[in-house]
Amino acid sequence: MNKKLTITPYGGLGEIGMNCMLIETETSAILIDCGLMFSELDHFGVEFVIPNFSHLLTKKAKIRAIFATHGHEDHIGAISFALKAGIRAPIYASQFTTLMIRERLRETGMHETVPLNVLAPGAEVTLGDLKVKVASVNHSIIDAFALFVDTPIGKIIHTGDFKIDASPHFGDILDKNEFKKAGDEGVLLLMSDSTNVERDHEALQDEHIATRFEELFSKAEGLILVSMFSSNVGRMANIFEIARKMGKKIALTGRSMEQNVRLAHERGALTFDSSLFIPIDKIRQYDRKKVIVMSTGCQGEPRSALNRIAHAEHAHIKLDQNDLVILSSSQIPGNEVPISKLLNELFKCGANILYDTIEDVHTSGHATRPELKLMLEMVKPKYFIPIHGEYRHLVHHAELAQECGVKQENICVVENGEVVELGPDSIQIVDQITELRVLVAGREGTEITKTLLKDRRKLGEMGVVFCLMTREKDSGKILSKPEIIARGLVSESMEPWLLDEALNIVQGQIEKYKQDLKMGVINKDLAEEIRVELRRFLERNIGKKPTVIPLIMDV
Ligand SMILES: [Zn+2]
Repeated sequence: MNKKLTITPYGGLGEIGMNCMLIETETSAILIDCGLMFSELDHFGVEFVIPNFSHLLTKKAKIRAIFATHGHEDHIGAISFALKAGIRAPIYASQFTTLMIRERLRETGMHETVPLNVLAPGAEVTLGDLKVKVASVNHSIIDAFALFVDTPIGKIIHTGDFKIDASPHFGDILDKNEFKKAGDEGVLLLMSDSTNVERDHEALQDEHIATRFEELFSKAEGLILVSMFSSNVGRMANIFEIARKMGKKIALTGRSMEQNVRLAHERGALTFDSSLFIPIDKIRQYDRKKVIVMSTGCQGEPRSALNRIAHAEHAHIKLDQNDLVILSSSQIPGNEVPISKLLNELFKCGANILYDTIEDVHTSGHATRPELKLMLEMVKPKYFIPIHGEYRHLVHHAELAQECGVKQENICVVENGEVVELGPDSIQIVDQITELRVLVAGREGTEITKTLLKDRRKLGEMGVVFCLMTREKDSGKILSKPEIIARGLVSESMEPWLLDEALNIVQGQIEKYKQDLKMGVINKDLAEEIRVELRRFLERNIGKKPTVIPLIMDV
């Protein structure tokens, strides 16, 4: 019998973000992760990019579970959207991941639609002809899992996002024996995190960062401000501990920071006495040397507290030259420009600014080349698909797999939408799905269609012109003088001349209309003719065709 299964990545392959993948046999399917991506089009009102669920909905009846490997937004952020779209399958995840998902589902009112199941490391779930076992891995968030999926044709390992850290602040060290055991028994396919494949050196351990923080904090002469990803609970715990040791107080800014401290406390990963914290609006009452502010905004997000602090616009924090600012984070590809702007503004405040390229204040959550090599050597897969990376990362990871002994013909570099068919002795791309993503305005999920985005772009780039007048409904007589209103068209100095001329064009059209009216003909196309003539006129005079909206109100 020649059984096969298919693997469909909807996102995350060829890009960093929006991870979502379906593994499907003839009778069952599981969805691994369902993440979102923050949009670069936020100036057009697009906040998130999420997977297009229409293809997935055709498999709806088969989907037996959604597994979330960990609680980062690019892995869980679109689950609520999937449920809204009509996917109904129980969710399985680790303890902390389920807490993060629970918050997201509550925010969107979807928390009672499907069961949310907590799995402990090592737990197994059988779903039709698939059996999934979860194993702890290290990452920049606690409680991250790899998945070991037993299928009718063999074992598949999906690493999730991972690194191997010998000193995680909380939770287990990646269990190498688990991976080795699977490797010895035989793994048909390995899908492994490619993010840091270009980094050749061993990554710093979390413990090293904590030690460095302690040294830096002890030398600080003013306020300490640490900006980081709010989900990095391990780092948070390190800072809390140092604060307690040094008798300093912690002030949190940013809603997600407060939320994750609460969730990590609920999980038991953060222990603290509430006297450790002070409200941000009270920090002026404390000696600056005794305060550590923890904020989000390390990616240069324009609306973040850190950005307001950098621009000296924050109500409670003003930096001075004795202060120490630490950006304990890496740059997510695509955010280089806003981060650079943020750093320059922070430097203008005169404080001492440290970040990962000049000081050991951050270590990535993703395995570098030596760890990726170790993973390939432990698992010894027959087939290999690099996942979680931009296209070049996938190619480099494919090359590494070959160096580690996977046959070239057994390595498949797959991009989003390419459907892979896997058999006991074959791997190939058999189909291609298009229209993979949907742009949405916010958590409520309002879609920004291509047409709407095109309109917004055009309005933004070229401006808009309205031409208003009233007309008597029955007789067709023009009752008011036409009025022209323009927005975003040309500089104010040029506008009066341009609008006067535009008005002449409209008057010309109205004269023709009046001639027709005298002959007893009401020209129904007046609005369209005004639109066409105005656009021609504007193109001649300012070199662009803005949106022209004639509004003739029949009264
Ligand atoms: Zn992650």
